[in-house]
Amino acid sequence: MKQILIDKYLEKHGYTEWEPKVALFDMDGVLYDSMPNHAKAWHDSMALYGVEMSEAEAYAFEGMRGFETIKIVAGRQWGRTVTDEESNDMYRVKSEHYAACPTAGLIPGVKALQEEMLRLGLRIGVVTGSGQHSLLERLQRDFQGLISPEIFVTALNISRGKPAPDPYLMGMSMAGTEPWQTIVVENAPLGVRAGVAAGCFTVAVNTGPLPDEILANEGAEIVLHNMDEFRQLLPELIP
Ligand code: CA
Repeated sequence: MKQILIDKYLEKHGYTEWEPKVALFDMDGVLYDSMPNHAKAWHDSMALYGVEMSEAEAYAFEGMRGFETIKIVAGRQWGRTVTDEESNDMYRVKSEHYAACPTAGLIPGVKALQEEMLRLGLRIGVVTGSGQHSLLERLQRDFQGLISPEIFVTALNISRGKPAPDPYLMGMSMAGTEPWQTIVVENAPLGVRAGVAAGCFTVAVNTGPLPDEILANEGAEIVLHNMDEFRQLLPELIP
């Protein structure tokens, strides 16, 4: 069954080898159950600027850098270009709203999944569109010994964010791997699109309210529903 997934993946990209060496994890909705907070922070902060952003819309834009999301959503509603300065200011306010939310817990089972990955010989990195310092610092502590600190891409070190492949290309460059040696773990449509565009084996774990089909339609190799399911599948994916 899993060999079929791998064969399909190799054929889709025209690769001949499958030799997974690294897993690149997205952060929000994959490491942390932080999306409900983000969705609320998006809604409440944008309302201060007269911008209507529903929580559902926050999930649809998940993965894109906040700076870019604001330019699209506010620009559409204002009918004009949003300046860099306006967008930076609004993102700062959004980040303040996020910081005032209750602390997000870890996604259940994610550490056990990572322990199993290490046991099977993978290294682990993080590729996030977040520039939220409070979360990025906490991550280094919560996942110490699991995540390789040298494989760490954030909104702060790329110029083109998800859904462009750039963040995952940079993650692979930090890890020294090719796409056919790289597993991406994502929960959001735009994140899946970025992983697929980078040529990685992209696993979607649907931890949020969107229907599975959206993630499958973005090209995810498989759509799972929790980290335990992924951990159980893992030995079949690693030769
Ligand atoms: Ca995410």
